[in-house]
Amino acid sequence: MKLALLWIAALLPAQEILVAPNQSVWVTEAMKAARNLNESTQRAPKDMLTYAETSKWQETGPYEETLAVYLKLAAASPYARMIDIGATPQGRRMYLFVASKDKAFDAATARKTGKPVVFFQNAIHPGENGGKDAAVMLLRDILVTKKYESLLDNAIILSLPVFNIDGHENRSPYHRINEQGPREMGFRVTAQRYNLNRDFMKADSPEMQNWLKAFNKWNPDLLIDNHVTDGQDQQADTTIVIHDGIDVHPAVAGWVGREWLLKLWSGMEAEGHVMGWYLGGPVRPGQPLTMLPMAPRFTNGYVATRNRASLLVETHSLKPFAVRAWAHYDVMLETLKVVATAGKQLRAATEQADREVLTPGQKLALDYAPAKEGEPYTLRLLETETYQGAALGGPVLRYLPKPRNLEVTLIRKAVPKTEVVIPKGYYVPREYSNVLDLLKLHGVRVQPVSGAVEAEVEVTKFQKVSFPGQPFEGRFQPNFETTVERRKMTFTAGYFFVPVTQPQGKVAMHLLEANAPDSVVKWGSLNGIFEQKEYASDYIFEPLAEKMLAQDAKLKAEFEAALEKDAALKGNPRARLLWLYQRSPFYERDKDVYPVYRALP
Ligand SMILES: [Zn+2]
Repeated sequence: MKLALLWIAALLPAQEILVAPNQSVWVTEAMKAARNLNESTQRAPKDMLTYAETSKWQETGPYEETLAVYLKLAAASPYARMIDIGATPQGRRMYLFVASKDKAFDAATARKTGKPVVFFQNAIHPGENGGKDAAVMLLRDILVTKKYESLLDNAIILSLPVFNIDGHENRSPYHRINEQGPREMGFRVTAQRYNLNRDFMKADSPEMQNWLKAFNKWNPDLLIDNHVTDGQDQQADTTIVIHDGIDVHPAVAGWVGREWLLKLWSGMEAEGHVMGWYLGGPVRPGQPLTMLPMAPRFTNGYVATRNRASLLVETHSLKPFAVRAWAHYDVMLETLKVVATAGKQLRAATEQADREVLTPGQKLALDYAPAKEGEPYTLRLLETETYQGAALGGPVLRYLPKPRNLEVTLIRKAVPKTEVVIPKGYYVPREYSNVLDLLKLHGVRVQPVSGAVEAEVEVTKFQKVSFPGQPFEGRFQPNFETTVERRKMTFTAGYFFVPVTQPQGKVAMHLLEANAPDSVVKWGSLNGIFEQKEYASDYIFEPLAEKMLAQDAKLKAEFEAALEKDAALKGNPRARLLWLYQRSPFYERDKDVYPVYRALP
């Protein structure tokens, strides 16, 4: 079988297997011209062109090339520097590129300038090409050709050249079947097979740990995360998700909606881009489309949880590589133009968010549902037809170069789904150092308890615990229900208190609230609490069980009622033993009990 396949591959012309056949049938004249991108190439010094440009957007360079171009920018301009932020699992160095007219190349100096810090994040999914090359070109136009020099007057720019570097170097022509070039591309996950865009909260990967340390230092005011989408063909070359709702501090959400979103959208359309919202899921006639805030495991959800402005850019995989790079270039350019005029207000908003910490006793949403009211939205699709697929043996979709606009209702507004009363904070025992270390990695302040502190707390217990058969991102994530008990407890040395009244209070709550989608317990960091460690033999337990039932009439009545209700229990001696054992003094008291205590306001 293997030999036969090799023989077929040898007969095919190389190009035919290298290039995915499904290019977009809709590329406008403006897209073909890719004005700002091509003008950037024309004005660049020859020795500062990228592989992508010299190959006419057929290839993208390896990490070494990306670093070389960034180093050339840093050498050519007094306003730029590369900062080493750590190593990848395969030993490559991660760098953050800093551009600042005040030469504020460290976070503390940057803060003193009072200018907003803008963060371009590239290649978290290295197979998704466009952002990495566009970021270099835009920085070249700010620092070297000086076409957009003035954009550095009111902002400090950080660029992460490549986030998932090991994945970027894992190159193949076969990593993204939809993506129209470059010829070879990196892979979605890291060398340890982590998808970094699920790792922001649990931070298993060394890359994410390095990122968090850098992010804590710089605390950027605005972040753009550059991706490439898949899915259906459509008119839009640029789709976005922006956080301007209830998951961000209102001052920041207000700035995003008022200043950034409207100007970005109209600026992009004025350049000839076809803009759209990044929507998942099928269109169902008569039903509104919805967009909900992303959970903090994702870049944008995480940045929003830290009350920073954030944008997810998804350029379309079926548009040519150059069109995608043009879209990334213009999104970053238009954003910097907004920051140039409204950067002071952005900075004021993020500072306000850091000052106005959570208030114990009020409520916080852990996840979201769509609001009732929507807005009219034009989906810019393409006409389709179907044909009979010889290989798949069924009808297959074919896109036609004919725009089809569909008027729909889009609900972008969210309301809380799961809400909790904000506690004063949480008590965590020292033995769960994995939890304490993770909190610190996220910039959350934890205080050791000294003396004896008496506190009214809520103790969370887990019921109906089950585990999936498959891991997700290297973890086994428990499903459970919870109940809560109020207790007065005394905490002594060995416990740590995590106050929520601090700038990273919301991150602390998302990590420590058992029912938050990205909590430590939901990610499986505390799976030991769900295991029973001691057992009773029937020959030992039977006489004790009889004594328990004889001594406790209430227990006896409950047992009989349970047997009556549940035939499986009644007919199973092991299950009957477990039922009684769980109610005996021999049972493990800390099983299924959350070792994190909520201090009541
Ligand atoms: Zn992606």
